[in-house]
Amino acid sequence: MSTRCPAADQRRLLDDPEGIKAAWAGFKNGGVVTCPTTGAQLSMAVDGSTGSYRLVCSGCGFPSPWFNAGPAGISFRENDPRSSRF
Ligand SMILES: [Zn+2]
Repeated sequence: MSTRCPAADQRRLLDDPEGIKAAWAGFKNGGVVTCPTTGAQLSMAVDGSTGSYRLVCSGCGFPSPWFNAGPAGISFRENDPRSSRF
């Protein structure tokens, strides 16, 4: 059974460029990144054809937009409808 995460927390973490950057930085450092309220772990999804990533909450399945990660940081994929707002 999965834990339902509060939508407000998911938006703060995975629907916000700064939240995603912080979560990604945690991943790169080998840390475990979790939903702020339920503690559900975030997992990383990889799109091998484009080399992009996204973070998905293992509790509720809420995904971040796809992004590309490079030495200078992350950039959001322009053809992802959700990242057009950033
Ligand atoms: Zn969640």
